[in-house]
Amino acid sequence: MMEEMYIRAGRLITGADHEVVEDGAVRIEEGKIVAAGPATEVLPPAGAEASVVRYDDATILPGLIDAHVHLTIRRGETVPRHAAEVTDEQALLLGVRAARQVLAAGVTTVRDCAARGRHAQALRDAVEEGIIAGPRILASGKPITTTAGHIWPISYEADSVTEVRRAVRQLVKEGVDFIKVCATGGRMTPGSVMGRAQYSVEELRAVVEDAHRFGLHVAAHALGTEGIVRAVEAGIDTIEHCTWLDLDSEGVAFDEEAARMMAAQGTVANFASNPPWQLLEEYDEAADQSLSAQPAGLVSRVRHRWQLVKRMRTLGVPVCFATDSGYGAWRDFHDLSYLAQVLVEQADFEPLDVIEMLTAAPAQAIGWGDRLGTLAPGKIADLLVVSGNPASDIRALHQVQAVYQGGVLAVGS
Ligand SMILES: [Zn+2]
Repeated sequence: MMEEMYIRAGRLITGADHEVVEDGAVRIEEGKIVAAGPATEVLPPAGAEASVVRYDDATILPGLIDAHVHLTIRRGETVPRHAAEVTDEQALLLGVRAARQVLAAGVTTVRDCAARGRHAQALRDAVEEGIIAGPRILASGKPITTTAGHIWPISYEADSVTEVRRAVRQLVKEGVDFIKVCATGGRMTPGSVMGRAQYSVEELRAVVEDAHRFGLHVAAHALGTEGIVRAVEAGIDTIEHCTWLDLDSEGVAFDEEAARMMAAQGTVANFASNPPWQLLEEYDEAADQSLSAQPAGLVSRVRHRWQLVKRMRTLGVPVCFATDSGYGAWRDFHDLSYLAQVLVEQADFEPLDVIEMLTAAPAQAIGWGDRLGTLAPGKIADLLVVSGNPASDIRALHQVQAVYQGGVLAVGS
């Protein structure tokens, strides 16, 4: 007997082409979506064994995807402090808690973009085996960086073509799902230089070649334009943060030529920790006040970045957003919906646009576009059910009623 399920709700947001289906239904067999559409067309299965669930004033959408998190790292902690003050055992337990929080917030897939040892792989396997609650986890394991480079205390330090190749191969032995390489310095690693490239194009290309040979994609941490340009030239798959910092790490030096190349190659810009969480906290505190009541520096910097994001999308660059949770960027591990709120309410993105940048776009970016990200036949039935209608009020994303993983109820009722 095939396991069948039928879920009906006030509406569906399919995650494709801004589609909203009023009074919609999803039919699931063996953990996969077999049909999704108007309830007048997608009918309940005939078998009496099929379970039927109804959510009336609610919306079903694809489970959210946060393509840049650090499940095992505490908020607001520099990398050296994390390495010095948190034991291996504590780090792993932090990851267990974070995994549960992420799932409860409707995020059904994450990409863990740096953890020490094999922690992220262990968490991934524990979720798959049903030992702990959590989202599907794609793990980079340890990042690859230069000696004294960004995240060095928990990375493989590699300083030449030969060394980066060896690091990739070592990570393959450690069972990673993708490779994370640090193309520039980073904010949370004192002594590293955000605006400057850490690797040559040749070294980055060696990472890409070897990773692709093993069927793994490559995410490059890149804040400065110098590193972004080299990463794009080297054929990196996803550029993390992509903040276009100038060589002094202060101003912005947007390179339109590089953005055009990203569009041509399909290189993804994954704006992790953009917008920064401070914006929402200050926004919350300011309550009814306008943004102009907030510190001018942060607001104008962030506004400028959003203009660049919009420019890049116009050029055809694939764009998604992520929290970078754990790394002192966002508030906690339940915050992807709050990031969505900021993008709609402060950056003037359309709600359906934002939802697709947190579902279909990251699914493509992480190489799971054929299995995740939309409500379409053949996709894994990872579903988020929220009260209300996020297409008209994005804050509805905070009101999680239920989360399904592969057609199985994991959160709520
Ligand atoms: Zn990060």
